[in-house]
Amino acid sequence: MDEREKSEVVETDVVIVGGGPAGMVLGMMLAQANVEVTIVESQANFDREYRGEVLQPRFLQLMEQLGMRSYIESLPHAQVRAGTFFQKGRKLGEFAFHRFIPEIPYAIWTPQPILLQAYYDYMKDSPHFHMKFHASVKALLRDNGRVTGVVIETEKKERTEIRAKVTVGADGRFSAIRRLGGFQLEYEDYPGDIIWFNIDQPENPQDVLQFHMTDKYPYLTLPKYPNLLQVGIVLGKGRWKQIQQEGIESFKADLAEMSPAFHPFLQTVTSFRSFFPLQAKTQYVKEWAQDGCLLIGDAAHCSSPAGAIGVSLAVTTSAIAAETIYDSLNKNDVSASSLGRVQQVRDSEIRMIHRIQMRMGRMLFNRHPILNKLRPYFLALFTRTPIATTVLRKMMTLPKDIHIDERFRFKDKSSRKG
Ligand SMILES: Cc1cc2nc3c(=O)[nH]c(=O)nc-3n(C[C@H](O)[C@H](O)[C@H](O)COP(=O)(O)OP(=O)(O)OC[C@H]3O[C@@H](n4cnc5c(N)ncnc54)[C@H](O)[C@@H]3O)c2cc1C
Repeated sequence: MDEREKSEVVETDVVIVGGGPAGMVLGMMLAQANVEVTIVESQANFDREYRGEVLQPRFLQLMEQLGMRSYIESLPHAQVRAGTFFQKGRKLGEFAFHRFIPEIPYAIWTPQPILLQAYYDYMKDSPHFHMKFHASVKALLRDNGRVTGVVIETEKKERTEIRAKVTVGADGRFSAIRRLGGFQLEYEDYPGDIIWFNIDQPENPQDVLQFHMTDKYPYLTLPKYPNLLQVGIVLGKGRWKQIQQEGIESFKADLAEMSPAFHPFLQTVTSFRSFFPLQAKTQYVKEWAQDGCLLIGDAAHCSSPAGAIGVSLAVTTSAIAAETIYDSLNKNDVSASSLGRVQQVRDSEIRMIHRIQMRMGRMLFNRHPILNKLRPYFLALFTRTPIATTVLRKMMTLPKDIHIDERFRFKDKSSRKG
């Protein structure tokens, strides 16, 4: 047991709220550079379903810079090498990853529990890395306005103060730190929902992401490790609520009409509990830093599912946050302006990707009859022009100016696995 747990007050350099991809990567990088880090995670473990599992080439590029790429690729995963668009079963167009990033011509599908557990296993013996599960943040500590840590509550309703020089909110799209700190959203876009479920893969395993337009609803399929397909039904805002009012049998009938591949799954469905709805929201926090406090990942810049890029963006921000926090601690300046460097570095890329996603969202979620007719032609045209390659390259590859400093790099531990 962590010696420090006996006390009701814990002191650390940096407390990171949230053990998702953003919090884990930041925690690892700081601990690697000998900064004392405590991650608090409200869940009991890393089990989670339907979370960012497609990891784009840029994620692997970042892991490569951190010296972790072969460790990550030694984990169980499926590869996704191309994307294809279909209209009522007819192929309209396609894109292949090798066209925009020849050196890493695939995305990987790694279940998030496996990825996060692997990060944890990698770091758990570090004397600088501490993690508390089942610890939910209930309040921020402040001293003269500056954030000085958090109050956490454990499963047994016991409260502990974690005092820290820097408090990081990496607690996702419903961030408690964002709410408790009074951080304001600059913009939010919510064009609709994606309703997820899993089906068995067809006999020939697929390494292709597919987008289908049908008379009922558009849907996408993604290969999911080890032998599943994850299906996402794309619904305009408000439609999911109407569907639930119409009843499960009506929705099942629609799905059955959309694809015979759904039939075996539909035989097991008796209620809406078989589906996992995701609000396709894009959010951008106006100012990510306050004195002593910083938001990263989805807490600062939640992206829509368009492009499956949330994890990649989140960990890129973590990398910049690690450098910034390290420098701020060394300068003994954890003011909003010092921590605000993270937003200065990440701002233009995040806004650019959000703009692309919001345009994609208008194209995918809008069910206007004229747009329904034109959409296949737009998509076919889009995939055949160099614009598609340029847009996808921008989204899927790591910005050229991201270079991780040596002190945060890990020795490749791929051999440690197993
Ligand atoms: C259905 C779905 C599918 C997605 N698909 C993809 C995809 O294919 N590819 C992709 O790149 N992205 C995808 N995303 C987005 C991706 O999951 C997120 O962008 C990414 O996980 C953000 O990482 P994060 O660490 O910032 O936040 P999160 O992953 O949300 O992690 C936040 C963590 O904070 C913890 N927490 C929350 N509140 C508290 C609290 N009060 N105290 C302590 N801990 C707390 C949570 O338990 C969680 O572990 C998907 C998202 C969803 C919902």
